[in-house]
Amino acid sequence: ANALRVRSEDFSRKLRQLGFDEVGPDYILNAENAGLISMEYGFEPQVEAEEEDEDLYPEPVPDDTSLLPSRPPIVTIMGHVDHGKTTILDYLRKTSVAATEYGGITQHIGAFSVNLESGRTITFLDTPGHSAFLSMRQRGANVTDIVILVVAADDSVMPQTIEAIKHSKAAGVPIIVAINKMDKEDAQPDRVKQDLARYGVEVEDFGGETQAIPVSGKTGLGMEELEEATVLLSEVLDHRAPRDGNVEGWILETTTRKAGRVATVLVRRGTLRVGQILVAGTTWAKVRTLKNEAGVDVAEAGPGTPVEVDGWRDQPVAGDEALQADSEQHADAVTRYRQAKVEQSRAADDVEHINEARRLEQDKREMEAAAAERADQIANGLITEEEAQETPKEEASGPKEVHFIIKGDVSGSVEAVINSVTSVGNQEVVPRILRSGVGPVSQTDVEHASISKGHILAFNVPVEPLVRSQAERKGVAISSQTIIYRVVEDVKSTLSEYLTPKV
Ligand code: GDP
Repeated sequence: ANALRVRSEDFSRKLRQLGFDEVGPDYILNAENAGLISMEYGFEPQVEAEEEDEDLYPEPVPDDTSLLPSRPPIVTIMGHVDHGKTTILDYLRKTSVAATEYGGITQHIGAFSVNLESGRTITFLDTPGHSAFLSMRQRGANVTDIVILVVAADDSVMPQTIEAIKHSKAAGVPIIVAINKMDKEDAQPDRVKQDLARYGVEVEDFGGETQAIPVSGKTGLGMEELEEATVLLSEVLDHRAPRDGNVEGWILETTTRKAGRVATVLVRRGTLRVGQILVAGTTWAKVRTLKNEAGVDVAEAGPGTPVEVDGWRDQPVAGDEALQADSEQHADAVTRYRQAKVEQSRAADDVEHINEARRLEQDKREMEAAAAERADQIANGLITEEEAQETPKEEASGPKEVHFIIKGDVSGSVEAVINSVTSVGNQEVVPRILRSGVGPVSQTDVEHASISKGHILAFNVPVEPLVRSQAERKGVAISSQTIIYRVVEDVKSTLSEYLTPKV
């Protein structure tokens, strides 16, 4: 207030108007917001040059990988619900390295490796389904080398089969088809192959290049063939990675065990060992232990191997990249730098939301003013009521728009929600997405939704109690979902509330 030469009460009022709910004399504005607010008062803020980049970056992939050692392929299992993804994963897990070496019990750590008789290894991501695949990919983590598309032989191609094909193609990840439930009497593998061809998956015996293996997750039929097919494809694709140099990997999953915070790291290059320092997102670890999927300590983990890493300062986030730092000090500097950047961009986002909400409010005021003016004109006999009604009607031609604000855990899921939401609607009502973004539902979102009579869709993100109660107070509906089709159902039911009742 002093810098802007305004009274502090006026300044607080202004801040509240701008959407800063809890401002008091001890409230500290960050640079971004301070700049924007000063602009409100007609100043031209000067932003000082950014501090030096202290971030860590992955090393470039060498041009010629042909001399590097080969690494296990990383496989994701996708397919329609109930077609047998979990059953197949369970079957494969039983034959995993850890299971065979340590008495058959494996823990869920997000991935497991299977050693074949040929000496080759395959690493399977343990979370079937599309959202895991998407969320990793949208973070830039092309974790999956091969997709095994499970299609039940008695049910053939279904909506999520098609969705999986789309995702795999978009990611440029090759597919191997597992035609499952071959033990069933009504299995129709040829129908599956024909149906797949209609969606651009041409299998080998139909003149295409995609391998299709008849299997049964129940009896184990075809499982070895499926593994061999995977290895064969990996050989063709020539998956290789350096085992030396700085370690790089992805965080697959995080959890808390007795030992403390642990995270599964899937190593992409280099060899991870105890004592090394790993940075992931805004946290880091001095690796205390490495455990495989049997919960057994291992000395090291090379490319394509998942291990559970203990020793994190804070819980890392699944999907984040893990990079080796050369010292604890370096790791600390990098995470501080990243934290500051996160805060900056969050503030910038908030300012943008506030501006958008204000624009909408301005629009509303203008519309109200126009309506008032028309009422005046009618009262003064300047126009007739019919004439007055013509204008707004013209404006309002076309379908009714229902406003949505979308928040999701990662940009991939936000994109997926946007795509699904925009695909519903009819001539009478259509959804309009006012805004979308990554992160939890904020007070600004609620504010915005309240002003614009919008609905909030929260996908895989928490809604804090404060925000929830604010929404209740303002009559803003928040739909909180973790499955895309449920979001679509919610949107459909919301839209139907806007339909003119048919008599
Ligand atoms: P997901 O939703 O794709 O993970 O499917 P599940 O693995 O949960 O399997 C759905 C149902 O199909 C379960 O009742 C399984 O026991 C059954 N199932 C899975 N694979 C087979 C199979 O090869 N043969 C038979 N007969 N049933 C299977």
